[in-house]
Amino acid sequence: MRLDKFLVEMNIGSRSQVKQYIKKGMVSVNGTNAASSDMKINEDTDTIKYNGKQLCYSKYRYFLLNKPAGCVSATKDNVHQTVIDLLNGENTKDLFPVGRLDLDTEGLLIITNDGRLAHHLLSPAHHIAKTYYADIDGYVDDQTISLFKQGIDIGDDTPTLPASLKIIEADRSTGSSRIELTITEGRFHQVKRMFQAVNMSVTFLKRISMGNLHIADDLPTGSYRELTPEEVSALS
Ligand code: URA
Repeated sequence: MRLDKFLVEMNIGSRSQVKQYIKKGMVSVNGTNAASSDMKINEDTDTIKYNGKQLCYSKYRYFLLNKPAGCVSATKDNVHQTVIDLLNGENTKDLFPVGRLDLDTEGLLIITNDGRLAHHLLSPAHHIAKTYYADIDGYVDDQTISLFKQGIDIGDDTPTLPASLKIIEADRSTGSSRIELTITEGRFHQVKRMFQAVNMSVTFLKRISMGNLHIADDLPTGSYRELTPEEVSALS
């Protein structure tokens, strides 16, 4: 790979910025100041330093975003801000969201350039657990829990797989509830359609976990962080 391409991919700067850094002697390859921006380097075996700090190359990048409402789970959109736009300051080339959350849904979304991992996580055979917090217009009770556990008809060819519904708070007098729901599928609008099927509606929805990943309190809505190598291998 060309040295300037490597530095751009490592998020050091734009193509013209990294050329300047190389000219100024701020980049070394195997202990010697880099001679030119088009020199070829081996990103796996060469030691590249910028400002004396070694850059470790990784082809794939993995982010966990706490998606806000009003932003679309896509790479491009003519109307709304996209989830990729929220990764400002990153090199977002080839990044895409793993699956979708509705425009008005918040919470955990993985963003990567690793097509294999995305395919694995989205595969219907994989049954990765996804937990959602929701505010419900409706009184959720033990009967709702047992219906969701059995699987319900939401108008698809087959009923939903067993889902685990936990009541955080349910108020019969106001007919409103706060719940957590864990599902192992990813059907279109699944959570909203499950509640519609029992004559209730979702007024707020947030994904709070996916597999071993959880949205922590210290990751405010609209913020993101990189996944650790351990978190990535636990997903694979
Ligand atoms: N289920 C929904 O209804 N919407 C989402 O965004 C995610 C799951």
